[in-house]
Amino acid sequence: MSERRIPVMIPMLGEEEAQAAADAVRSGWVAQGPRVARFEREFAATVGAGHGVAVSSCTTGLHLALVLLDVGPGDEVIVPSLSFIATANAVRYVGATPVFADVDLATGNVTVETVEAVRTGRTRAVVAVHQGGVPFDTAALRKATDGWGVGLVEDAACAAGSTAYGQPAGAGAAIAAWSFHPRKLITTGEGGMVTVDDAGWAARLRRLREHGMNVSAADRHASSQPVLEAYLETAYNYRMTDIQAAVGLVQLGRLAGLVAQRRALAARYHDLLAGIDGLVPVRDPAYGRTNYQSFWVLLNPEYATGRDEVLAELAARGVSARRGIMAAHLEPAYAGVPHGPLPVTERLTRDSLILPLHHALTGDDQDHIAGILRELGRR
Ligand SMILES: *Cc1c(COP(=O)(O)O)cnc(C)c1O
Repeated sequence: MSERRIPVMIPMLGEEEAQAAADAVRSGWVAQGPRVARFEREFAATVGAGHGVAVSSCTTGLHLALVLLDVGPGDEVIVPSLSFIATANAVRYVGATPVFADVDLATGNVTVETVEAVRTGRTRAVVAVHQGGVPFDTAALRKATDGWGVGLVEDAACAAGSTAYGQPAGAGAAIAAWSFHPRKLITTGEGGMVTVDDAGWAARLRRLREHGMNVSAADRHASSQPVLEAYLETAYNYRMTDIQAAVGLVQLGRLAGLVAQRRALAARYHDLLAGIDGLVPVRDPAYGRTNYQSFWVLLNPEYATGRDEVLAELAARGVSARRGIMAAHLEPAYAGVPHGPLPVTERLTRDSLILPLHHALTGDDQDHIAGILRELGRR
């Protein structure tokens, strides 16, 4: 039995990132500046979007997306409960009401049907999540929300490197928010990006993240003439620093390789876990490919051991797994919020777990993990 601990995730950070951060510090320009601008262009190009607006996190990006869509008190916004809690919280930040939609068992994502089931005359927007990197059905949901006349914000926190219909998951999105938290594939420590196709939306987002100023601090600094800025609306300080963007630019260069490596490791998990009764690993949906940001397995009743006991056994043998995706409606912060039936959400959050998957995971580690899961499945 291996004595080393196997973490669930490790960010891939090398000497190049350290050098890039040091270069930014030495340049004397550490707040939002030229490196942020370059990171925005290169990230938008990578995910097939028209414009990128860097922000301090995906959470603040989701907040700005809802401000941009003019969502506010009295409006309902449909979100999956099965998501990191930031998805639902962003709706509350603008004073609107989150309405929880159930998800599809295979993808963990909302569908046209689950959204339709909770849609009302007050629905102003839907925030759909590419959960754990598994893309939702972009073609179907974009078409449906267009038809209903409601906004669609894509929570792509986990989806850098995922594809849908042969394109990057965010391509063709009216608005998508991305995360660079270390739990995701590429990281800037903390950080996020909002991508949009509309140039006017990009300009408004740039204002919203920077106190509502009509000229960015970077542009003002670069100008040889005195620039008298104006504050056009009440807004926020949600900026990314140039130190973060310097790291992000290096990370972006690693993205394709990281995705390829994760998919190879996931394929090996699929081989090792095949034939374990009652254990169902996440897979690509028919219309796209996941980056396997999270490799989760669902335990069905045929599996002999309960989820929490599996987590405890894995931990006792050096494997740091995690419970499946959380469900916001089960958390104290959302206690008492009315919602319809969420049977698939409750099943996924109760009976699934996330296995370690990262660049340093070895074949031996995977054999060790699969061996434990095989043993616990039949006792
Ligand atoms: C991680 C995550 C977020 C929050 O991202 P931050 O950059 O940490 O704010 C939001 N939504 C989903 C689905 C996430 O997985």
